[in-house]
Amino acid sequence: MFVILFLLESRFQLRKRVQGRWKRILINTIVSIPAFALLRLLFIPAMMWLAVQNQQWSFGLNYLFDAPQLAHFAISFLLLDYSNYTWHILLHKFPILWRFHLVHHTDMDLDITTAFRFHFGEMIGSVIFRGAAIILIGVSPMMVLIYEIVFEAATQFHHSNIKLSFRFERMLNYLIVTPRMHGIHHSMIKKETDSNYSIIFSFWDRIHKTVRLNVHQYEIVTGVPHYPDERELTIGHLLKLPFTRIREWKKWQNTRR
Ligand SMILES: [Zn+2]
Repeated sequence: MFVILFLLESRFQLRKRVQGRWKRILINTIVSIPAFALLRLLFIPAMMWLAVQNQQWSFGLNYLFDAPQLAHFAISFLLLDYSNYTWHILLHKFPILWRFHLVHHTDMDLDITTAFRFHFGEMIGSVIFRGAAIILIGVSPMMVLIYEIVFEAATQFHHSNIKLSFRFERMLNYLIVTPRMHGIHHSMIKKETDSNYSIIFSFWDRIHKTVRLNVHQYEIVTGVPHYPDERELTIGHLLKLPFTRIREWKKWQNTRR
């Protein structure tokens, strides 16, 4: 998935880049290593272990009633996705969580490498939240794994800088989050950042009226306005950013490029 999207976004570019591509690849790769390793080597196995344990405890929604397996699968998948939509809002609304999620948003370009640029601290918070969701929903171990795989693929897809035909993307967007939709979430304008929180299914934003689609991609300035200097956003600084004093969100003056 990564290789295909990487090649496609090189060939069909949606947003113009403002930074050197290879320098960003280097920064995003190194910043992502701790989070990448923690999630795959520890947290996903831990979440699956939790779901295995929960088969004995029989706790959570799915264990409350008998239904065809497919129905339990659908309930698990939908509610896991809904819980991740909620978690994404919390990341933006709670200052202690925003400190960590900020590292992801300081990227001044948006492409498939941004899909990996997460601070490991954010992963620690998310595994606690996701673990609780798994127990409350009563998700089976297999479904934890399936959801994680689709979640990963969806994250890569909606961060990618691929230019799809507008009509095709609009059709796709009725169901899932697409690159143009998520591009708006990475805008420097606060009300645009405060929209489009969905991960896989786009309808959570529609249901909660947090959806915003009427912004052209060429108008978007990607990043956060209080961290606008790429020379400041080095690998070392990004890793310690959550532990420094976080600046107030500055109103983006030069609103449009
Ligand atoms: Zn976000």
